[in-house]
Amino acid sequence: MIDHDVIIVGGGLAGCRAALEIIRTDPNLSVALVAKTHPIRSHSVAAQGGIAATLKNVDSSDTWEAHAFDTVKGSDYLADQDAVEILTKEAPGVVIDLEHMGVLFSRLPDGRIAQRAFGGHSHNRTCYAADKTGHAILHELVTNLMRYGVYLYEEWYVTRLILEEGQAKGVVMYRIEDGHLEVLRAKAVMFATGGYGRVYNTTSNDFASTGDGLAMTAIAGLPLEDMEFVQFHPTGLYPVGVLISEAVRGEGAYLINSEGERFMATYAPSRMELAPRDITSRAIAREIQAGRGVHRDGSAGGPFVYLDLRHMGQEKIMSRIPFCWEEAHRLIGIDAVHEPMPVRPTIHYSMGGIPVNTEGQVRSSTEGLVESFFAAGETACVSVHGANRLGSNSLLECVVFGRKTGATIAQYVQNRKLPDVEESRYLTDTQNQIQSLLDQPGEYRINQIREAFQDCMTDYCGVFRTEARMREGLEKVRSLQQQYGQIYLDDKGKLWNTEILEALELRSVMTVGEMIITSALWRQESRGAHSREDYPERDDANFLKHTLSYYSPAGVDVRDRPVTITMFQPQERKY
Ligand SMILES: Cc1cc2nc3c(=O)[nH]c(=O)nc-3n(C[C@H](O)[C@H](O)[C@H](O)COP(=O)(O)OP(=O)(O)OC[C@H]3O[C@@H](n4cnc5c(N)ncnc54)[C@H](O)[C@@H]3O)c2cc1C
Repeated sequence: MIDHDVIIVGGGLAGCRAALEIIRTDPNLSVALVAKTHPIRSHSVAAQGGIAATLKNVDSSDTWEAHAFDTVKGSDYLADQDAVEILTKEAPGVVIDLEHMGVLFSRLPDGRIAQRAFGGHSHNRTCYAADKTGHAILHELVTNLMRYGVYLYEEWYVTRLILEEGQAKGVVMYRIEDGHLEVLRAKAVMFATGGYGRVYNTTSNDFASTGDGLAMTAIAGLPLEDMEFVQFHPTGLYPVGVLISEAVRGEGAYLINSEGERFMATYAPSRMELAPRDITSRAIAREIQAGRGVHRDGSAGGPFVYLDLRHMGQEKIMSRIPFCWEEAHRLIGIDAVHEPMPVRPTIHYSMGGIPVNTEGQVRSSTEGLVESFFAAGETACVSVHGANRLGSNSLLECVVFGRKTGATIAQYVQNRKLPDVEESRYLTDTQNQIQSLLDQPGEYRINQIREAFQDCMTDYCGVFRTEARMREGLEKVRSLQQQYGQIYLDDKGKLWNTEILEALELRSVMTVGEMIITSALWRQESRGAHSREDYPERDDANFLKHTLSYYSPAGVDVRDRPVTITMFQPQERKY
């Protein structure tokens, strides 16, 4: 067993920013950061468009209150407004702090940080490094971790949260290189394990976004919040699903249907292409359903619409969004200077997650908190995004609440003792779990079950939802879960056994998928990204509340939690 004061699982923006805050606050603490990838390969590195903050460099009339209002309206009034206030008030400070660490933001001619327009934001407030913002920020954070002496466990897969009597005590982890198992024990554990895009078949997320932290938390008996809210990004490159950043529309690109119309005029006349993502994704899906999508040969009735950049000109495209041009060129051979890009909605982001208070401490119920357990970033739900996240607010959430949670933990562990942990029990349990995967005489390949599961989630719990479809989907989910006990692994060895990893990740994907469908069945209204064809209206009287879902092998139990409303009363949401 290895001891540290603090264990952080996850090397993306949230985990790295928290680790840095802890070690800067108290350099004597021993802080471990564990990641199943190299930290620099965390999905944060792929973030493109930018990070929102009211620096007022481009738009001097901007205020944190305007940013807060846009965020709450974008959330369809489900965000907790005390958390939104912290997010938007602290934004300028955390961006300046990143700049001081060395992050190379794009500049205005006078040298100040440049800011661009983004969907659902009423002012130009998104700071960026061309269209490689996550790359620029994550590299600086990881360099700083090394400088301050944080212990990095790279390419270790955490399989279990050790939770006893309402207290987190450590984790069990598996070294991918050679299959070695280890128990890490600490005075505080933090999850910053990112999203779950791989629950669906087409996603902008990386292969590692399998919702492990969510599944481990749920399996340990703790609730997950607002799991029904799954963000579809409007512009996934067809057919691969890879992201074409909202920055492309922020810089002026048009969405066009098969009739050559800028169809957003029908759906959000005042914001056009820069409406929030839930509205724009539904608009594209409706156009495709109505036969105004496009086929590869340019004829009508196809599965995508066009994102047209041609009027922007080569110089702007190559200086502001070079990476998006390159993605389309490399992956599907489109030169966006001269041809429109084929796009359709792709699974992008998880609004829900592990419920936390504004200090980052995990909730055990509406009222209760878990001792020594913290979470931040995409895997957490402090609820700043409610039912729909605005672009460029997620990197901001990672940095603001990563920093804040780090500060809380640095105080929390002072004068606390290391907990008692029965190491051998956890090692034996995990060894048995892995051995039974290796030994089971299965008839299915991992791929087969995973693809069937991802197709099922996409078909039965996608952009538009109904009770009947979701009930059917849940049945299929259950029968696929049964088949998990009959998967067959070819590789029985210990060295770089990626099949074991895929099997463990599949368990996470299936657990998270079941939680999404059951929460979505519970919410009999349409709000933000959750669009029910059988309940097309928002219903504040009955559903202006968060869901808290508890997992058990017998099924998921959905309860609720009130929304914190401090500044803005719910209104009709129109753009
Ligand atoms: C293509 C793309 C572009 C985006 N662009 C923007 C943007 O411009 N602006 C914006 O605000 N947001 C953007 N987002 C969203 C934003 O990037 C993410 O929400 C955010 O970066 C998540 O950071 P994180 O620290 O929570 O998790 P991640 O960066 O996903 O990191 C998760 C970490 O957890 C580790 N991990 C997971 N499971 C385990 C396990 N079992 N054991 C050990 N380690 C584990 C992983 O190895 C990784 O290190 C974008 C997202 C995508 C996919």
